[in-house]
Amino acid sequence: MRISVTDRCNIRCAYCIGSGANGFLPRSQLLRFEEIVRVARVGAALGIGKLRLTGGEPLLRSDVDQLVSMLVGVPGVTEVDMTTNGTLLECFAPRLKAAGLSRLNISLDSLSPETFRQLTHRDLLGRVLRGIEAAQEAGFRHIKLNAVAIRGISESQIIHLARFAREKQLELRFIEFMPLDNARRWQPELVLEAKQILALVEAELGPLEPVAGAQHGPARQYRYRDGGGTLGVVSAVSNPFCDHCDRLRLTADGKLRNCLFAACGEDLRAVLRAGGSDEQLVDLFQRCVGAKKLARGRDDAHLTPADRPMHKIGG
Ligand code: SAM
Repeated sequence: MRISVTDRCNIRCAYCIGSGANGFLPRSQLLRFEEIVRVARVGAALGIGKLRLTGGEPLLRSDVDQLVSMLVGVPGVTEVDMTTNGTLLECFAPRLKAAGLSRLNISLDSLSPETFRQLTHRDLLGRVLRGIEAAQEAGFRHIKLNAVAIRGISESQIIHLARFAREKQLELRFIEFMPLDNARRWQPELVLEAKQILALVEAELGPLEPVAGAQHGPARQYRYRDGGGTLGVVSAVSNPFCDHCDRLRLTADGKLRNCLFAACGEDLRAVLRAGGSDEQLVDLFQRCVGAKKLARGRDDAHLTPADRPMHKIGG
């Protein structure tokens, strides 16, 4: 289960929040840590052991390391991970490690300061790079880099990112641009498809081969034949993976969603704040999971701009 702790972010990625109006939630609407932990406890009793904190930018909740240690202590929770843009990691990495965070995914779409600024509307590439170093120094292993690929922007960055990841022993994952941007500028022509990304990498860095049985959730894994590590691609648009998807998402305002492209979610916060029982929460979990799509390609949801942009769902 991916748990969004805020819909706010300190950067303005064009494919997500963007630079326009964003209508952030007032603080009172965000789940409090105790509420998140209660949902996690109910979920863990139902078998949901792996949690990932996300947002918005999860490190904007400055005591998020406390939430990590609270979640680590929930019976049945086997792993607490985080996805972050890395801009605040330099200061947070040791605290997160001490709190018991298992894994970090860091989003980085470009190694060129200019392209980074163009994509995020912020001049913070240096901070992200220092954040990655700090995470490695703090002892995090298997750090993943997430890069959104957008046609016309990312082609020039793909090889730089692939070389960087090989050099620094980071696991790189390219994600196809999904129609989840606030500005609704997404169009099929802007999607740089997984197969095109793989072709670009192979042309420069040599052949890749699929890693057998390595479809865990969304990413398809490939390995360099020369032993130089692995590369993942998330083909959410060109080849939806509903039949492998085991994700649930808890939004910052307490809606449980069974798909990034779902039209709505189960309102756990209403139950929590009305003094509802754990059984009522269990019912909502079961309803949500029961309605999860089983097969890919049933509809065009993954090609249709969503009502709710990524930062309001929890990426
Ligand atoms: N702020 C954190 C971060 O940047 O990693 C966590 C939240 S962010 C919404 C999570 C992931 O969603 C990031 O890797 C981001 O690149 C990805 N993302 C956001 N909008 C996307 C879109 N329209 N298509 C594909 N991936 C997207």
